[in-house]
Amino acid sequence: MALPPPHLKARKRFGQNFLIDDYIIGSIVNAINPKPGQYLVEIGPGHAALTRPVLERAGALTAIELDRDLAEILRHDPFLKGLTLIEGDALKVDFAALPGSGELRVFGNLPYNITSPLIFHLLEQPGIKDMHFMLQKEVVERLAAGPHSKNYGRLTVMAQFYAEVIPVLEVPPRAFRPMPKVDSAVVRLLPKALSPEIKALAPALKLTVAAAFSARRKTLRNALQNLKLSAQELNALPCDLSLRAEDLSLNDYITLSCAIKDLQDSGRLPTANPEQNALLGQHPNTEE
Ligand code: SAM
Repeated sequence: MALPPPHLKARKRFGQNFLIDDYIIGSIVNAINPKPGQYLVEIGPGHAALTRPVLERAGALTAIELDRDLAEILRHDPFLKGLTLIEGDALKVDFAALPGSGELRVFGNLPYNITSPLIFHLLEQPGIKDMHFMLQKEVVERLAAGPHSKNYGRLTVMAQFYAEVIPVLEVPPRAFRPMPKVDSAVVRLLPKALSPEIKALAPALKLTVAAAFSARRKTLRNALQNLKLSAQELNALPCDLSLRAEDLSLNDYITLSCAIKDLQDSGRLPTANPEQNALLGQHPNTEE
């Protein structure tokens, strides 16, 4: 067990639950499979539970830590040679500007209080090759869900628009100190190579899924009333309005968002709705 130094208290506001189980740590590092010459970036190294073994295998690593006290300890740790530390908020880091952009391999046991905005911040960045994250198990189930299930929602459609989602490993609360109240899981995200035309659909897709899932038990005819379209515009949408939000596949949503984008381009619908964006960035537990 790799216990964190006893004099340091975990800070709740930074979402600190430190990994202490060597077997789980080893399994996560095996899943990442770091190699020398790769551009690895860790979010929230904490007490270096993952940092140390990844550095041992890769020889070099960049890590972003928000907690000033932890950053100070990491900076002076003689066993972390090869570590480049960025002290700051991962939400504000421009990953495209980091060395190795295009080939970045990002990983971390993420602070659960900012999971959703952080994942979308990363999915929207160019230059990331793959990501491995420890998240709440419930969030991983939602990211990886398929249509017709209760876990399928806005988070699912938006995440799968940007990336292939692969659940890797489940992790019980006892693997952490302090122990979280929920189960956790590691997920692998493989960003898709999206054409500029498809990428340009993102704002329309955001608006579409937010409207569709705002009333997931209702038919799309009812849920999409939110968009304040005329009856004629609604009937012209390329989808079966008698279905519910969870019945449409990602491809169905992409088709639908092409029509919504046309309405946005013609000025009938807003391109960016700050309220919808805020909703997407909320903590996953409070969504839908
Ligand atoms: N990697 C360590 C481990 O597995 O034991 C710590 C994981 S802990 C769940 C989350 C870490 O992220 C903490 O070290 C915390 O201080 C850091 N953190 C929280 N918010 C952050 C942010 N916005 N940007 C960068 N790091 C952050």
